[in-house]
Amino acid sequence: MKKIKIRCNGHGRHVNEIDLDTALKRIRVLRSEASPFPDPIPDRIVLPCHECAEGRVILTRNIIKENM
Ligand SMILES: [Zn+2]
Repeated sequence: MKKIKIRCNGHGRHVNEIDLDTALKRIRVLRSEASPFPDPIPDRIVLPCHECAEGRVILTRNIIKENM
């Protein structure tokens, strides 16, 4: 499985290791009910930081595409 390292946008700028496969699967499940034709690549995926409460880890479409 592919893991990518992305920093959170909180003060700590913590490095989070994101499993892209897992993140995409989660999004597909969320989207399958909302749209009959879900885009296989979302514009972005926002995940909570593993290290802090305020930080978010944002995977943009470009990052997702580069790592697929
Ligand atoms: Zn953080």
